[in-house]
Amino acid sequence: MSDTAPEAPPGTVKCLVWDLDNTLWHGTLLEDENVVLSEANRELIIGLDARGILQSVCSRNDHDIAWARLKALGVADYFVVPEIGWGPKSDAVRRITERLDFAPGTIAFIDDQPAERAEVAFHLPEVRCYAAQDAATLLSLPEFSPRSVTVDSRQRRTMYQAGFRRTDERERFAGSSEDFLRSLDMVMRIGRATDDELSRVEELTLRTSQMNATGVHYPDEVLRALLACPSHEVLVTTLTDRFGPHGAVGVVLLEKHERAWHLKLLATSCRVVAFGAGTIILNWLVDQAALAGVHLLADFRATDRNRVMEIAYRFAGLDEQPCGCRDEVSGSSGEDVLLLHLTPERREPPTTVRLIAPDLADRAPPRAGLPD
Ligand SMILES: [Zn+2]
Repeated sequence: MSDTAPEAPPGTVKCLVWDLDNTLWHGTLLEDENVVLSEANRELIIGLDARGILQSVCSRNDHDIAWARLKALGVADYFVVPEIGWGPKSDAVRRITERLDFAPGTIAFIDDQPAERAEVAFHLPEVRCYAAQDAATLLSLPEFSPRSVTVDSRQRRTMYQAGFRRTDERERFAGSSEDFLRSLDMVMRIGRATDDELSRVEELTLRTSQMNATGVHYPDEVLRALLACPSHEVLVTTLTDRFGPHGAVGVVLLEKHERAWHLKLLATSCRVVAFGAGTIILNWLVDQAALAGVHLLADFRATDRNRVMEIAYRFAGLDEQPCGCRDEVSGSSGEDVLLLHLTPERREPPTTVRLIAPDLADRAPPRAGLPD
């Protein structure tokens, strides 16, 4: 079982870091180039991947030889940011943690050598360490059993691998950042959320504290109830480019009134701040409101982390200006929530992404006088 102390934080493991010799495979590669991967470990690798748990490698070996062996065994693609070399394993695990931008408490480490586990546990006490013989039990442990497995968790590894290739290419790209964005062939899809998509939306609103306009987390059941409500729109934004999927990157909760649309929530993933996803979604909403002939109202509550979103709202033109349409939603927002206002005009479509989005005006607002 786990070597970590009982006070170790609970919660799901986001990345399992594998030792190779006598842990991932039977044998020591330097002594036997035909080390064997057991069927049980192959199934474990595939099973963790399907649950959205990333996997990496931390091994004392010659990098090129070990990586060639992982390829020959048909599993190299399952491992991100591998660390194969001769330094202390705690340093290697720390580098993996930093490259993934994960908290150490979300990392697990499996190694057959008690001394290696002790060295990692000493320097990184939050990392959960497992002995090689525990491998058979991992899939049944709660920390390796995420509460929900969404479309995005199933493709998480692909998304990270695309992200690393994208970053590498951006570092080599000589032109402007606008030119780089154009070169990505980005397609942004905004769509009405389906029942199936709501779990990825909830995951997104939990992870997006920097880019959440109100700092409010809408639980799954609240959004699910609003799906059926004709006066509300729950919209999910996904983004893909030539490197691969970014997954769900934004969520919008909008309530339609007679004279104004009330934007109650806009949250976008921190991963796509550089792509201006928040601004593109806002710009599209303003254009839709202009087409529908309604004003736009938006809740905003400053938190100590969402300054970027405030800039996006102000840049879109939302402000404190008085207007009669405010009466339609007065009192519906919480304490210390600002209700910002905009009189919309048509907006040009984005130049850096191809936008595929529904026509929001096609769902009639509730008739005046009827309760919500
Ligand atoms: Zn107004």
